[in-house]
Parts: sequence; structure tokens; C-alpha cells
Amino acid sequence: MNKSPKKPYKAQTVAVHGGECPAPNTGATTPNIAMSSTYQVEPEIQFSVADRTDDTGYVYTRWGNPTLQQLSEKLAVLEKAESCRLFSSGMAAISTLFLHFLSSGDHIIMSDIVYAGASELAQEILPKMGIRVSRANTSKVQEIKDCLLPETKMIYVESPCNPICRLSDIKTIATITEKTNILLVVDTTFATPMGIKALELGADIVVHALTKYIGGHGDAVGGALLGPEEILNDLHQSSTVRLGGVMSPFNAWLILRGLSTLPLRMRAHEENAFKLAQFLENHPKILKVIYPGLTSHPQNQLARRQLSNFSGMLTFQVQDMEKAARVFHQHLDLFHYAVSLGHHKSILFRMDTASLLSSSYHLSKAQEEDYRNYAGDGIFRVSVGIEDAEDLCSDMEEALKLL
Ligand SMILES: *Cc1c(COP(=O)(O)O)cnc(C)c1O
Repeated sequence: MNKSPKKPYKAQTVAVHGGECPAPNTGATTPNIAMSSTYQVEPEIQFSVADRTDDTGYVYTRWGNPTLQQLSEKLAVLEKAESCRLFSSGMAAISTLFLHFLSSGDHIIMSDIVYAGASELAQEILPKMGIRVSRANTSKVQEIKDCLLPETKMIYVESPCNPICRLSDIKTIATITEKTNILLVVDTTFATPMGIKALELGADIVVHALTKYIGGHGDAVGGALLGPEEILNDLHQSSTVRLGGVMSPFNAWLILRGLSTLPLRMRAHEENAFKLAQFLENHPKILKVIYPGLTSHPQNQLARRQLSNFSGMLTFQVQDMEKAARVFHQHLDLFHYAVSLGHHKSILFRMDTASLLSSSYHLSKAQEEDYRNYAGDGIFRVSVGIEDAEDLCSDMEEALKLL
């Protein structure tokens, strides 16, 4: 059997077998890594990607690569997407998406709270290209409707959003874009396909930073777009190949291995995050905990409806955030004080509200108030790893004694 399995197996089986098959030349059961920039081709092959067809085969790794192909297939089956395209980072996926779909005169509505890099890209670079950007609190559907213009081409949402774990109701937002030519793009990096399948809820394109849970081990940076083959093939031919933000085959190989255990890891992340969230919520020195799985989350009802796994991301607040940052940095044994998230190791990082609001977000007074409802003057964003939950709680307990 030299083919990857074709039956509609369940997620855990697909994660292990999807996109993979024993190598036809050697029988090796683990994917070969094709670290080749170029391929021997027939003399008929032309030099421009515009001449490429489905039968062209591999020509040059910026156009396509067998290791990337294997990862694309596995991820597409897990997300229940027709197609997947890979990028050198999450931001390369997002910038290629924007440059492909938006041109001068167009308008995009973006969630007020998204990953800081995506926010800064929209705010600093798109306007220079003549693209208008409106920021809406997408957890309130009416606010999106109020921003709609005849020129609106895209609605861009993160759910749950980085860093505050606020949700947007994808199914309801999709009723706005349905039967229009507005693309609904949803970044579900925090939830992964194990938590939400936004395409099934009506999104047109899903974004993932593979750097986070999908790679899962804090070693490889990568990004993906998932959706209809017709759209993504056009994006690949017209934009990705020309802009050039493609993934290295080595990273694809690492992420392919990480993805094999995604369903197992997400169960462990969720279990640990639940335990740590409950521990923190009951601790006298903690002012507030935000975790979609807790009944105290302002949108716990929506979380229960739209998330099949609450993931490992939570935030908490204490009285003296600056002092706490120093204490955690020095005294936490298991949590690394670092940016990024979704790794097997636990990570925590302080995000100061005033500094985020001035550097990355451009909010109205009402949006700022809503942000503070979730984040106060600042939060610790915690990516709960897959260590033993009791060890994580006692590590935190020891550090909190010093506050
Ligand atoms: C990290 C992240 C990104 C960007 O991914 P990179 O691989 O760092 O470029 C985009 N969206 C979300 C939600 C993220 O957390």
C-alpha cells in the first residue's frame, strides 16, 4: 500500500496517517524530507509559473515541494478543508492573503483585537496601498454591520482572539458575508482544528500560525491558509510564488511530525488549562482569570456552542503586574517567561494594556472599555503546556507566595 489512507477516518487516525504513505522507492514508513530546491524536469517545461498546470509536477520548491504537499494534505483533512497552502510564517500567510485579495480602493473590516503583528500590518501597511481599514469589535455582530461599505472585500476575525481569549460568533458573522463577494477570513490559531472548524461554520478561509499548537514543539515557524482549492490555487499561482514567503521543507517535516499528535496534545492542553484556571480562580492573590472553559468567561455559552476543545490559552491578572513579572521571571521553575504559545512547554508573558493599546491597536473608547473588561490594565497570557498539571499548579503556588 503506497497510498495515504482514503477512508473518512476519525481525527486521531487522520492526524497519524493523513498525507503520509511509505516511500515508493525505499518503503520507508516515515516521510522522506525532500530538501531539494529544484527537480529534474522534462524539456517541455516552461520557466514561468503561469504555464504551470496540475500535471506539471515539481519544478522548483517555491512552486511546490513533496514534503510541503504531505503536510498540506494532513492539515486539510483535519480541518475538513478542500485545500491547504503553506507559508514561511503565520504572518507570511496573512500578508500574502491581504496582498492577493485587496487592492487600492478596497475596504477591510478587521477585529479590533487580533494578533499584534496582523493588527500592525493592517494599520501600518495596508493604508499606504490605498486600502481602507475599519476595526470592529467582532464579538458584537452589529458593529461589523455598521462598518460595511460597498467597497468591503474582506472581514478578518480571530476567535478566540490573541491575547484576551474573546470569541466571535463565526456562524452568525457568516450570515453577513453569505451570498456576497465579501470573504470571511478566520484565524483559529488558538483553538486549532480540534477546537473549531471555521469553514464548517461558514468562513471562506481559515488562517493558522503553525508555529503554535499545530507544530506544537516550539521549534519551527510556519503558517497556513485553508479553504476552497480554486481560490487557494489562484492565490498560490498569482501571489505566493511571486511574493515568495514559502515554507522550508525542513520546517514542513518538523510540523508534519508535530501535527501527528495534535489531537492527543490538545486534550492534554485543555485538561491542564482547566486545572490551572480553576486553581488560579480560587487563589486569593488572583484578581481575574479568563479561560473560555470557565463558566465565569463572559462568553462561556458561545464557547460551549462553538468550541469542541477549549485549548490551553488563558489569561490572569494580579494587583501588581510589574512585580509579578519579575517574580515569575525569576522564580517560576516550569513556565518559561517568553512570547509565543502552543508548545508542549508552558509559557507565560505579561501584556500591559496601555502599551498594547498605543503600539498595536487603534481602538475607539467603547472598544477600549471592552478590552479592559477582559484585560484590565494588563494580563499574563499563559500557554499551558502538557507537563503534569499538579506540578504546574504547585510551581505557580510557590511563586504567588512571593507576591
Ligand atoms: C503567532 C500568531 C500569528 C503569527 O504567526 P507567526 O508564525 O509568528 O508569523 C498569527 N495569528 C495568531 C493568532 C498568532 O498567535
